[in-house]
Amino acid sequence: MQLNHPDIQEVLVTAEQIQVRVAELASEISDYYRDKNVLLLGVLKGAVPFMADLSRAMDIPIQQDWMAVSSYGSGTVSSGVVRILKDLDADIKDRDVLIVEDILDSGLTLSWLTSNLRARGAASVEIVTLLRKPEAAKVKIAVRWVGFDIPNAFVVGYGLDFNENYRSLDGVGILSPSVYS
Ligand code: 5GP
Repeated sequence: MQLNHPDIQEVLVTAEQIQVRVAELASEISDYYRDKNVLLLGVLKGAVPFMADLSRAMDIPIQQDWMAVSSYGSGTVSSGVVRILKDLDADIKDRDVLIVEDILDSGLTLSWLTSNLRARGAASVEIVTLLRKPEAAKVKIAVRWVGFDIPNAFVVGYGLDFNENYRSLDGVGILSPSVYS
């Protein structure tokens, strides 16, 4: 569905901009893992469109797996304590794992996930995130690839939801506060 939607206050990234950037990322990531057997680990549900587009734009063989995690804590503030709702199917011991994430905000979720995967014996753990908010600069988390730096606003589209809505919008935009206030 097109991002041109009455609940979107401001368009941040159009579908065309995403496709151009995804192709660039796919090329860099393919070169990086060319001699390896990389496992792309998508974080459900927000990373589904990004994973689909990124993996298809890559020109090396890849495997995919998925995890669903949820941060404990109330409201919109991430506590850093993470619960696994759906675990990996694959054994990642000695594997090169690339976490594919939709958005990096406080970084607490990804920081927990990275240590969790390292503890399972992964040979390497890297991160690609489509979007990054300014808060992410405050935490020590090594993100190797970033699609777009965006302002500190609540965004939806291209996988990102509000109450499970708006995931199918083809770009990313700021949700009008009138929707949730
Ligand atoms: P972090 O631990 O980095 O604060 O949390 C990242 C997670 O918070 C993302 O995976 C996403 O689920 C959620 N999140 C953070 N910012 C936004 C946003 O602007 N819009 C939506 N829909 N989810 C967000």
